[in-house]
Amino acid sequence: MKKHFIELAMAVLMLVCFYILSWEAAETAGRLIDVSGNIKADQVILVDAGHGGVDSGMVGIGGLKEKGINLDIAMKLKTILEKKGLAVVMTREEDKGLYENGTKNMKAQDLQNRIEQIRKYEPVLSVSIHQNSYSDPGVKGPQVFYYEDSEGGKELALAIQENMNRKLSIARPRVAKENRTYYLLKRSPGVINIVECGFLTNPEEAALLQTEKYQRKVAEAVADGIVTYLKKQKENENN
Ligand SMILES: [Zn+2]
Repeated sequence: MKKHFIELAMAVLMLVCFYILSWEAAETAGRLIDVSGNIKADQVILVDAGHGGVDSGMVGIGGLKEKGINLDIAMKLKTILEKKGLAVVMTREEDKGLYENGTKNMKAQDLQNRIEQIRKYEPVLSVSIHQNSYSDPGVKGPQVFYYEDSEGGKELALAIQENMNRKLSIARPRVAKENRTYYLLKRSPGVINIVECGFLTNPEEAALLQTEKYQRKVAEAVADGIVTYLKKQKENENN
C-alpha cells in the first residue's frame, strides 16, 4: 500500500513538472512572436562586449580593466532585451577574446571574428559595449558612435544617446558622434553602434561603473534606446 502511494506521488510530481516546463516553453515562444509595441521579434539583436582575454581594453584608475565592465553591462543588456521579447546573440559571454591562442595579429583576428558573427546572424542591429578613457580625469559621460555614412546607425545612436543622457542624469550631455575610422563601424554590415558607457579615467564614473546598480541603469538606457529605434523603424515601414 505504502509503495503504491509513493509511486502515485512520483507520477503526480512528474506530471506537474512536465506541465510547468511545457507551459514555460510556450510562454517563451509566445513572447518571441507576440511582442508588445509591435517589435519584430523574429529578428536578432547582436550584443558585443568589447575586448576580453589577454586584451583588457582601457585600463583606468587602480588598474580597473575595461573588458570586465563591458561584459557585465553586455550581459545585463542581454537579459533586459530578452525580457522585452527580443532575441539576442552575444559575441562573448565570458572573459575570452575572439582569437586563436598564439595568433600573431590577435587584435585584428578578434575584430574580424566579431564582424564575422554579424555577417552570420544578420542582426537587425548590433551594439558594441565599451568604456572610454582620457588624459584629463575631469572628462566623463557616455557617448555613442556610428559610421558616418550609415543613416540607420545615426538614428540608433541618437536614440541610445538620448536615453543614456536622460536616464543616467548626465549633467553635461554629449551628442552621438559620427566616425569613419573605427574598424568595427567601417567593416560591419548593417546598423551598428559603439557605445562608450563612461570614462574609466574619471574617478566618479569609474566608481559608478563598477556597481551593479549603475551597470543595470546603463543597460536599461541602451535597451530603451534600441526599443525607441525599432519602434521608429516599424512606424516608417507602415507609412
Ligand atoms: Zn574598448
